[in-house]
Amino acid sequence: MHWTEEILQQLETHPMPPAGTYGGGGVHIINDSKTPSGRAHVGSLRGVLIHDAVYRALKAKGVSVRYRFGCDDYDPVDELPHGMKEHFQQYLGQPLCNTPAPPGSTATDMADHFITDFWSVFKDLGVGGEGGCEFYRMRDIYRSGQFNGAIDRILSSAERVREIYKQVSNADRPRGWLPFQAICEKCGRIGTVECTNYDAAAHTVEYHCRTDLVEWAKGCGNRGKVSALDGKGKLPWKLEWVAKWATFPVTVEGAGEDHNTKGGSRDVAAHCLKALYGREAPLNIPYGFILIGGRKMSSSKGLGVTAREMADFLPPEVLRYLMIRTRPKSQANFEPTEEALVKLFNELDRSHLKTFTDEKYPAAEKTSYLLSVVHEKDPAEAGAFFDCEFQLVLALVQMPHLDIYAEFARIKGSALSPIERSHLDRRIHAAKFFIANLSLPEERLTLQTTPPIGAKELSATQRAFCRVLSGRFSKCEWNGEAIQSAVFDAARLSPIDQPSAFLAFYRVLLDNTRGPKAGNFLAFLGRDSVVRLFGEVPWDAGIDEAAHLRATAGTLDDLKKFLTTGKPTPPTPVHGAVHVRSAGAGKVVEAHIVMLDGKEHLRRVRVDADQTAASVEAEVRCLLPTQLA
Ligand SMILES: [Zn+2]
Repeated sequence: MHWTEEILQQLETHPMPPAGTYGGGGVHIINDSKTPSGRAHVGSLRGVLIHDAVYRALKAKGVSVRYRFGCDDYDPVDELPHGMKEHFQQYLGQPLCNTPAPPGSTATDMADHFITDFWSVFKDLGVGGEGGCEFYRMRDIYRSGQFNGAIDRILSSAERVREIYKQVSNADRPRGWLPFQAICEKCGRIGTVECTNYDAAAHTVEYHCRTDLVEWAKGCGNRGKVSALDGKGKLPWKLEWVAKWATFPVTVEGAGEDHNTKGGSRDVAAHCLKALYGREAPLNIPYGFILIGGRKMSSSKGLGVTAREMADFLPPEVLRYLMIRTRPKSQANFEPTEEALVKLFNELDRSHLKTFTDEKYPAAEKTSYLLSVVHEKDPAEAGAFFDCEFQLVLALVQMPHLDIYAEFARIKGSALSPIERSHLDRRIHAAKFFIANLSLPEERLTLQTTPPIGAKELSATQRAFCRVLSGRFSKCEWNGEAIQSAVFDAARLSPIDQPSAFLAFYRVLLDNTRGPKAGNFLAFLGRDSVVRLFGEVPWDAGIDEAAHLRATAGTLDDLKKFLTTGKPTPPTPVHGAVHVRSAGAGKVVEAHIVMLDGKEHLRRVRVDADQTAASVEAEVRCLLPTQLA
């Protein structure tokens, strides 16, 4: 079962709150929010996309649902965004929405500056479907009085809230404490203000803007009395949660693992909602972080990777897939290496293909794919189409003389459709971004025109393999599949184990230890140059033919084993030729065997000092079916 199905099941028995200010009453309201105190880290997208997946799943079931996303911009400036210390220092403690935007920004204020950047990513990722999700800003909620009811109820029950803090999270608040912060009328700070004496009739609080309330900001010492309503102040965020849940009213809201501990903020908020409103908290979806591994991805120092930067790099469907495919509770991982990137794209492509071609493909896997589609309503986007393999895109963007679109049309066998072109465009962009900003030298391709110096270190057998390969290349059909087979043929005919063969292959072709899949990549290049390159592997640099023959020769038992084991049945030789060859001082017997499946093999048997070549040759012939030897 896909994890969204499990959430839907839980929701069936989850109590539905009565209608609130924003509707509800039979309509599910999914809520999430973000404090716009700096550029949003890419990890912030996990919750956004998990909520979006549940939103889509509910909609698909025909359930009435809305997805609201808030900007918590009445929170105080309590840290300085990286590199903007000078500008923001003086505003520490003020509400984010009352703080000017950094110089050069077109935003109305600091909160607007950062949330606009973050929300722009939602659109790219298709969050909230066609209309997008419903954005709201806490300044509007407070100032328009929409939280007045909740504020009055919470401040009138301050003593009860204080008890819950103690019971649930063992946090002591002084007698007379109010879960409220007014905006100081003198200095404009909110984070430094302590409130007392709620007058329930006049809805006022007394406040003190303290110099020593918090470490990160210093109040002005002012004292006063203001209304608690209409945006003159705010609830601390645990109670702000309660007010949102009760007022909107929220039925689903997940939280990151840091909030979900016993006695943690989510627990406190749930107890307060129960005590003050007699309601159950919205259905929680606890989710783990996303770990962006190792390599530094960010241009802006000290920030980690921002959501915007990641969305500028990865195609949106890939980013959605990355965040949604793992169960929310599991940590998602992403390492910006070539290997991890190729794996991620390949897994998405495989899931795409199977979703539309494999009837036995598990429903949960299909769901994961379909939730990754950006424009789910677009039938072209949400259907079967040809995916351009990312590893080849990576290779092709490094071969500027080639027409990427034409090459993929050739592999596909027909012209690319508009949807295929647009997906390829995104992949080209991601590949170029990776090469330019993130790749290590060994991840870049340098096509060799003559065997590189490094090829001198190849073993005698690896060189022999290159020679056989050059021969196979000169006569095989020049398309991806045939070329790929030719590499395996050459390995069997050397003979050489596949890892050593591919090491030699990538060393000669790219002066590297690995590269894109051989077949399709070589098909892009001209046959003549490839045949010449592998034919030119420096035989003059100490090649030892005798050493090669000896190194690849086994015992008679090895040959017997080769001919009698195999899955599901041993190979069936249909043709064989046996020769004796000199290998320096000694001799080897060579058997060239063609199997029923058409595959050619070469096997060598060594002639030991106490044997004669003729006797070994006779024994080899005995091992082959009589009609062949
Ligand atoms: Zn003040």
